[in-house]
Amino acid sequence: MKTAPEYVESLRKLNFKVYMFGEKIENPVDHPIIRPSMNSVAKTYALAFDPRYEDLMTATSSLSGKKINRFTHLHQSTNDLVNKVKMQRLIGQKTAACYQRCVGFDAFNAMDSTTFEMDRDLGTEYHRRFRDFLRYVQEEDLTVDGAMTDPKGNRSLSPSRQADPDLYVRVVEKNDKGIIVRGAKAHQTGALNSHQLLVMPTAALGAEDSAYAVSFAVPADTEGILYIYGRQSCDTRKLEDGSIDVGNCFYGGHEALVVLEDVFVPWERVFMCGEYMYAGTLVERFAGYHRQSYGGCKVGVGDVLIGAASLASEYSGAAKASHIRDKLIEMIHLNETLYSCGIACSAQGSRTASGTYLIDLLLANVCKLNVTRFPYEIARLAEDIAGGIMVTMPSEQDLRHPEIGKYVDKFLKGVAEVPTEHRMRILRLIENITLGTAAVGYRTESMHGAGSPQAQRIMISRQADMGQKQKLARVLSGIEEED
Ligand code: SF4
Ligand code: FE
Repeated sequence: MKTAPEYVESLRKLNFKVYMFGEKIENPVDHPIIRPSMNSVAKTYALAFDPRYEDLMTATSSLSGKKINRFTHLHQSTNDLVNKVKMQRLIGQKTAACYQRCVGFDAFNAMDSTTFEMDRDLGTEYHRRFRDFLRYVQEEDLTVDGAMTDPKGNRSLSPSRQADPDLYVRVVEKNDKGIIVRGAKAHQTGALNSHQLLVMPTAALGAEDSAYAVSFAVPADTEGILYIYGRQSCDTRKLEDGSIDVGNCFYGGHEALVVLEDVFVPWERVFMCGEYMYAGTLVERFAGYHRQSYGGCKVGVGDVLIGAASLASEYSGAAKASHIRDKLIEMIHLNETLYSCGIACSAQGSRTASGTYLIDLLLANVCKLNVTRFPYEIARLAEDIAGGIMVTMPSEQDLRHPEIGKYVDKFLKGVAEVPTEHRMRILRLIENITLGTAAVGYRTESMHGAGSPQAQRIMISRQADMGQKQKLARVLSGIEEED
């Protein structure tokens, strides 16, 4: 396993082509806007060496028998699935940010069972290739960006019917050495903190779209790959001096638009090429795993937000008011409901043909649909408790100013025993999670990450077995006899 410093050093060896604010970034690793997101991924390496978290953060490889970072593991039991969610809550608590590494983790598990079934049914050799790739990932303890979401253009048209054929990633050429692919993947979590890109199709596909049924892995700095960094609310605060106004002093997340401009992929790293009938299964499984993931990571961030709201009420002297206590209990109730869903879909998981365990898809989709709502309500309650000062407060520069600093310190004071600076720090942390850079992960990503709410509704209706429910009603109302 890599240590956190070894991880950081390994990223330096990559030669990313990346743009931010219209400028080429020469050194993404040390860039003040990118660095906090890299710190979050580095935490997934650091915690794996902490004996307190060994059970959650590490696993025994089913491929090599060696001890590995859990983020590179294939789930071998429902216990592995449960431990994944517990691990994600833990890291969410430690970072209050998106630590990005789960997209690759979820892609490995979805690819493993799907490629196994492709080989079994079609006589292809994708599974063997994929496992070779995963052995390499485990051996080197790599972070892999599981890249699924295409830009999609006109949502009412299939990939091949788009005015611009590049709006979904496609194969433009095949030869005896490999394939050449073109297109883009949008809002790719942690792209610049990843060693490899694992690309998958974004939707179920028909025969006319077989050029779009493509999955492969390439080093993240492969010729032809360009990254355009996605900006976030309040991101330039990271360029300021001081540590109060950023809210979270250490961690963040990031997304990027990844452009694939005729990228060559050798056959050994191609895991699907034209088998459109399997695109839907792959998407469904990857999305299912990532919908499970949210029952862990968002809950961990929720823990931090609840703690911060509770502190804000203590610092302002409102903590004993019964309505404040009720609101905090409501936040806990909502947060633990999300966790219950994450644990439930894991505990109810089952073995796939490849031996890798899959979550219960119905419950994973229920988990994620709750995540499209509850973090918003938790954030609303946190803002209620924090008060308007959370967004009208002067800056750290004003607090530190030789002449006016004393006024900021005097008039932003809550209870006498708590320094004004502490109150400001907690309010800025709440602001960061609900409105600032971390709100990308806690709010909008809760809505659209791992698929927008309608995608979960479709899966829920597909998985719900309405026929069986109707039968129950027919029997009990006397229309039909029990079997
Ligand atoms: Fe992991 Fe959550 Fe970020 Fe997805 S949103 S990569 S599950 S931390
Ligand atoms: Fe996500």
